[in-house]
Amino acid sequence: MAVKLKIKKGDLVEILSGKDKGKQGRVIEARPRERRVVVENLNMMKRHTRPRAMKNASRMGSPQVVPGGIIEKPAPVDASNVMIVCPVCNKTTRVGVKVVERHGEMRKVRVCRREECGQEIDK
Ligand SMILES: [Zn+2]
Repeated sequence: MAVKLKIKKGDLVEILSGKDKGKQGRVIEARPRERRVVVENLNMMKRHTRPRAMKNASRMGSPQVVPGGIIEKPAPVDASNVMIVCPVCNKTTRVGVKVVERHGEMRKVRVCRREECGQEIDK
């Protein structure tokens, strides 16, 4: 059975645990098979890189070197550690699925599970 995440690329989510707890960010990558998401500018990991010779540099005369340094990039977060922020009520919510008719077709849409809201998340 295909693994599906209710969180998609482009969703606004809030981090529920760890050092970025309570912070919100945009999902830039969803990895349903790992049940993980990558959130823009959150859960940043520092990676040290060493200077190294560039591949195929021999043809260009003197060897070229890629400088080393520290790269900061967001690490994937477990999908259970984030909660979607409803674009309608601006609160964190669980995601429900509703079937609606749209242009004569039955389609599944994601909805906010807050009782006072219940609006579609996908616009
Ligand atoms: Zn809502």
